[in-house]
Amino acid sequence: MDLHLTNKLALITGSTKGIGKAIAIEMAREGTNVIINGRKQSDVDQVVAEIQKKFSDIKVQGVAADLSVESDREKLFDIIPQVDILVNNMGIFQPKDYFDIDDATWEKFFRINVLAGNSLAKFYLPKMLQQDFGRIIFIASEEAVMPSGEMPQYSMTKSMNLSLAKSLSMLTKASHVTVNTIMPGSTLTEGVQKMLDDMYQDSDLPKDEWEQDFMKNHRSRSQIQRLIRPEEIGRFTAFVASPDSSSFSGEALRVDGGLVPTIF
Ligand code: NAD
Repeated sequence: MDLHLTNKLALITGSTKGIGKAIAIEMAREGTNVIINGRKQSDVDQVVAEIQKKFSDIKVQGVAADLSVESDREKLFDIIPQVDILVNNMGIFQPKDYFDIDDATWEKFFRINVLAGNSLAKFYLPKMLQQDFGRIIFIASEEAVMPSGEMPQYSMTKSMNLSLAKSLSMLTKASHVTVNTIMPGSTLTEGVQKMLDDMYQDSDLPKDEWEQDFMKNHRSRSQIQRLIRPEEIGRFTAFVASPDSSSFSGEALRVDGGLVPTIF
């Protein structure tokens, strides 16, 4: 299936590893010119080189910037004044007891997981409307609609992503710009692998059974009973970013292995 993404320009925030990197790779595979972002220049350079080597027909750029900081966002806007596709992927998470979460932590999660993506959308959306094509995609989480209670400060920000995307979609009426949110379930990124290592390294269970045991005991509602692979989120995001996915906007799209038990 040709997704008609050739020559489109996509900025994927937080794309030096994990889900963001997988999204960048899957879009590059479709011929999209991609912009890699992370905070460390060396990490950005490494991923730019890796993707450029694999897909020599496209243009890969990198911008090292901490997008939770206004001056860094200004730097990004100077270098990249316009994009066709914005994937607000960057996000932090940390399990925390509700009573241990202070105001500074609530504000930090809001600044990184909500405000940064909002600032980027506010900058790039008018240009998308002007050219009458654009895609803004927020990467939320199943925590947006089914908070586990394990990290309230994170779940709150992911619910906010849905609300924000819906409001933004209302600014795109009758245009060819869409704004959607994707809600991945537990995905086997380096961070989640480390979590498994920490949980099981002292157990008697053989390593190749850790994932199955984790799903059975900690994600029992999952219908697929395995962790999602980052490239699966990458391929789905590439489809949502494509001109072919023009029939929905303002939607919250689940890619969670059936973890959320409700119909809506
Ligand atoms: P990750 O920690 O593996 O990668 C995060 C990326 O963001 C890295 O490239 C990091 O350098 C970058 N980053 C972090 N803070 C930044 C900042 N201030 N400025 C620029 N870049 C910054 O994360 P992940 O697990 O791949 O998660 C990506 C997104 O997917 C997040 O929004 C997360 O909430 C969401 N998500 C992840 C899972 C999961 O199981 N991994 C599940 C649901 C949703």
